[in-house]
Amino acid sequence: ETAAALVERLTAVVPDFPKPGVLFRDVTPVFSDAVAFGRVCEALAAPFAVGAGFDAVAGIEARGFALAGGIAAQHQVGVLTVRKAGKLPGEVLSEQYALEYGEAELELRPGQLPAGTRVLVVDDVLATGGTGAATITLLERAGYQAVGFAALLELDGLNGRERLEPRLPVTTLGAV
Ligand code: IMP
Repeated sequence: ETAAALVERLTAVVPDFPKPGVLFRDVTPVFSDAVAFGRVCEALAAPFAVGAGFDAVAGIEARGFALAGGIAAQHQVGVLTVRKAGKLPGEVLSEQYALEYGEAELELRPGQLPAGTRVLVVDDVLATGGTGAATITLLERAGYQAVGFAALLELDGLNGRERLEPRLPVTTLGAV
């Protein structure tokens, strides 16, 4: 069974979560299945492992952390955690971005890896691309090179891919 088929079979569709009218894709069953988890981590990184490759994986809080850890272990590289505001101690870079309703803020600790480190960005779902765009900006502000964005699923009609692709190559394992 391919990584894409596993994502399609195991992802749960939850109506009216986290609020009425939203059709939420719950990918956590992909994480709890050992075969599926290993296979999706391989498939997310495969397009970026050729050529110059990547030296680190940045996971976006919170489901991106699990994927980043799996990919990093497979490729023997480290993890950067891109966190929601207020979670990281010490010096942080912050990036605010617009949500459908309201604003969100992500943070990254600078100085953890050398300037120029090639970083693969991972998350569970790509929707409007706002979260991914803010993450790429944080990584660039920290002096790193964001070399790719990978997610399990992209949501059709929200143009997340169109928003990120001018900046870096995008891979997902399915569109819904
Ligand atoms: P974007 O910033 O609009 O691309 O939204 C992507 C962010 O929202 C990611 O961090 C996802 O974890 C989260 N997200 C949006 N929709 C869903 C969904 O249906 N399931 C799980 N996460 C979602």
